[in-house]
Amino acid sequence: MMPDVSMEVELKAGVDALYVTRLQKERLTAGDDAEGVVAEYPMVDKKLLKEKEFRQTLVMHPLPRVDELAYEVDADRRSMYFKQAALGVPIRMALIALLLGTKEFAVSEENSWVQGIDYPSYRRDSGVKCSNPACVTVQETERKYIKPDFKIVNLKPLILRCVYCEHEVQPGYIASSDWHEGRLVNKKYHRADSHMAKKIKPENIIVFNSASEAEARGFKASHYA
Ligand SMILES: [Zn+2]
Repeated sequence: MMPDVSMEVELKAGVDALYVTRLQKERLTAGDDAEGVVAEYPMVDKKLLKEKEFRQTLVMHPLPRVDELAYEVDADRRSMYFKQAALGVPIRMALIALLLGTKEFAVSEENSWVQGIDYPSYRRDSGVKCSNPACVTVQETERKYIKPDFKIVNLKPLILRCVYCEHEVQPGYIASSDWHEGRLVNKKYHRADSHMAKKIKPENIIVFNSASEAEARGFKASHYA
């Protein structure tokens, strides 16, 4: 939205921050050349950030992205968007509290409701996908980049919470990935609500949606299946 002249001035001095947004196709009108707009939409990637004027540029984005922000930028020290998205949650909560006129509150280390609990992760490809149809992990455009990622928030019953949308899923069957350290005959699967859920170390848990899925992966039913 900046006129070209001041844009050049800004560029010469170096750009402090780039605020990237997805192409909002829903705002195009029937008269727009949609394909042309898509083709010309700029992309922020490593190559762009190598340019002299972008050396110190922080990259922001409200997320989710489509294709305008290269995944290779994620690990760059200038990328701010994950931090931006994470901080956006308490900021929105504070704004809502302010608008509703609720009492003032202070957040300190001791009483923080944002204190994180370090749950074990579940990142295996098999067995579970987020059941929230709006989750970023099940969107066609994102699936090629994002792997399912859950936290094991409870063992009995076994509950996995999606890292992206916090939706919780309860898989039906489980097995242990350290079966191979014993004998092949130990490659067994169990019902997730059996006491085996607590016997298997969280880092070794493999989940299945169904008994047939477990069997397709070479596991045999145990007494607890
Ligand atoms: Zn999800």
